[in-house]
Amino acid sequence: MKRDAFLCQKCKADGRLTLGTQVDHRVPKAEGGTDDLGNLQLMCSRCHDEKSKAEASRGRNGRGSWNRKHPGGVPQT
Ligand SMILES: [Zn+2]
Repeated sequence: MKRDAFLCQKCKADGRLTLGTQVDHRVPKAEGGTDDLGNLQLMCSRCHDEKSKAEASRGRNGRGSWNRKHPGGVPQT
């Protein structure tokens, strides 16, 4: 992923330079994303983990619902 300069794209957007170690799907495959380069980006493991959790909860409860109900916490289910 030379295009992304090996940096986490989410950290970079926040002004931090963090080495990207995970290849992330911008649109998750579960939501119709593809393996096309335009749908891939580098992320550090921390950002990728956060995004994966958000995607998993979207799949369970509908788009973004628990983020507002449980800021900073994992839902008790
Ligand atoms: Zn990051």
